[in-house]
Amino acid sequence: MQKIGIFGGTFDPVHRGHAIVAEAALTQAQLDVVLWLPDRRPPHPLKVSPSAYEHRCKMVELAIADRPEFALFCDPNGSSASHSYAINTFLTLCRTYPDTRWSWILGADAFAKLPKWYRARDLVDACRWLVAPRPLVRDRAENFPDPTTDLAERVAAEFSRLGLTLHWQILDLPGIAVSSTAIRRSRRQGNWPCESLADAVRIYIESQNLYRH
Ligand code: ATP
Repeated sequence: MQKIGIFGGTFDPVHRGHAIVAEAALTQAQLDVVLWLPDRRPPHPLKVSPSAYEHRCKMVELAIADRPEFALFCDPNGSSASHSYAINTFLTLCRTYPDTRWSWILGADAFAKLPKWYRARDLVDACRWLVAPRPLVRDRAENFPDPTTDLAERVAAEFSRLGLTLHWQILDLPGIAVSSTAIRRSRRQGNWPCESLADAVRIYIESQNLYRH
């Protein structure tokens, strides 16, 4: 039975924080593969519309190109009109990769919202939840919950009240103060946060003139 970690996100753009989290999940949870899954249309409202799905998929493809244990899962036939609900994608993945033990990789900010995910209860039992601590990032509207263990226990207690057991593991990582929002903002302001991006992703952003406005 193979062990796959699903790593979903807007990836607008994909950054070094994502790569560090994926590497930690791969080794610390002994996964065979990390499947990167850009959301075609995120289910939660964003303050700004995300960049085109094709750009975001391409940037992930470039970011993971030299890592054989990382794979990109893009849905060329999906529709941007419909929301990317995690449960729907998960059911597609279960059909595509039978005989798999699943983990779901996410940052503490995303994990805090898990009880509100559409049909969360159907996902909770089916995956092990690998949670990356996330520090406060300047330019983000929200504070990331800390410490992560308290958060995980609170989320687990919410599901326990529904009779569900949440299997979680906190990834052993220092907080990585990088976010896509901060990168886009820096780019608009003319400061290029090169250290937060893989070279190939930075070159792609420049060639496509992304995040200028
Ligand atoms: P935004 O600033 O627009 O919210 P983001 O940096 O959070 O973007 P996403 O694509 O939304 O990027 O993140 C995908 C997943 O990666 C989410 O589960 C998020 O919590 C996690 N993640 C992103 N950056 C970090 C980080 N620096 N540390 C830990 N987890 C992270």
